[in-house]
Amino acid sequence: MKTPTPLSRRTFLNTLGASAITLPALTDVLGRPITTAGNQDRKLGIALVGLGSYSKNQLAPALQQTKHCRLAGIVTGTPAKAEEWMQKYNIPKANVYEYKTFDRIADNKDIDVIYVVLPNSMHAEFVIRAAQAGKHVICEKPMAITEKDCQSMIDACKKANKQLAIGYRLHYEPFTKEVMRLGQEKVFGQVKFIESSDAFRIGDPTQWRMKKSMAGGGPLMDVGIYAVQGARYVTGEEPVSVTAQFSPKTEPQKFKDVEETLFWQFRFPSGAVSNSTTSYTAGVERLYASCEKGWFELSPAFGYGPLKGRTSKGPIEQPVVNHQAMHMDGVCKDLLDGKTLPGHITGEEGKRDVRLLQAIYRAAETGKTISL
Ligand code: NAD
Repeated sequence: MKTPTPLSRRTFLNTLGASAITLPALTDVLGRPITTAGNQDRKLGIALVGLGSYSKNQLAPALQQTKHCRLAGIVTGTPAKAEEWMQKYNIPKANVYEYKTFDRIADNKDIDVIYVVLPNSMHAEFVIRAAQAGKHVICEKPMAITEKDCQSMIDACKKANKQLAIGYRLHYEPFTKEVMRLGQEKVFGQVKFIESSDAFRIGDPTQWRMKKSMAGGGPLMDVGIYAVQGARYVTGEEPVSVTAQFSPKTEPQKFKDVEETLFWQFRFPSGAVSNSTTSYTAGVERLYASCEKGWFELSPAFGYGPLKGRTSKGPIEQPVVNHQAMHMDGVCKDLLDGKTLPGHITGEEGKRDVRLLQAIYRAAETGKTISL
């Protein structure tokens, strides 16, 4: 492969033409300016449900940087964690709930949004209870482990007249927004093929991620979903068919309940095709698109960053941001402004992905091409 000559930011933008100019992170995912006008002083109160690794290491620190929301409450089954978080983040006891007492959150005016950060199989129950408590909801990916659960979650939020966002942090991330634009606006011509893969070597084999009943599957549910998203947001299309293959298990004792490695291929209406890998046995994190007149890629493409990108014309230069802070601020700004959330971060989008994940499993299990 020919290595591109690195270009300066100015040369790169000039080369791509005026339409390529992307200003640093001051627009939201729909290209609307992010301003604090109107609701300058108001921050929505978020309660995190489940204080595991993602809440502790990513969301709580990000909530110290957000402009439109703040960490107002917690829901946990572990009293020691409650004490630790109350002290560390100055959370009043009145805003601390156990899973059993969670529904009382309905009476708490400090909490506007409930963020469900539990194992995948628990998302549905807690999103539905959050909606019934009259709160807006953010739910981590994958939205649920069945399409039916996704629909029940959407219905519950609709019935309560509350909005449901999925934890699609990359939709607010500047490098990702740039490859969405490069692909969807055909800056390098029609996208022809895509390689979109996300995998890592998993540690503790006893964790819930290794139990199908809790995770819904293996690496596909956990990180393969990013590869599915990547192919979809680069083309801006929905796949029309899928084929898939499980790799033979190299560590069968470890992978008794879930797949170890899985490959799949989507075909899109434009004729574009994508090829993806996900695995819990070794790592890859890359989104590459080959087009009629060039190519572009992100590598790394899906982690917490900094993401890195280049094209056949030179490096992609974008500001490095905190993904979780951008995501929560983006969602909460829209909620504060009384706007309907953009469709591509809502429950409908979450359900589309879960449907595709299930189709990938079906294709791998049957060896057949599944029409979508
Ligand atoms: P984790 O195992 O670190 O935390 C899970 C939390 O759920 C723990 O606090 C645990 O005590 C609690 N819990 C309650 N009931 C449980 C039960 N029956 N079994 C196991 N745990 C139980 O997991 P995590 O990495 O924080 O992931 C939580 C969710 O966040 C998952 O849906 C995951 O896919 C998602 N996630 C998203 C991102 C992202 O980048 N968007 C990153 C990591 C995790």
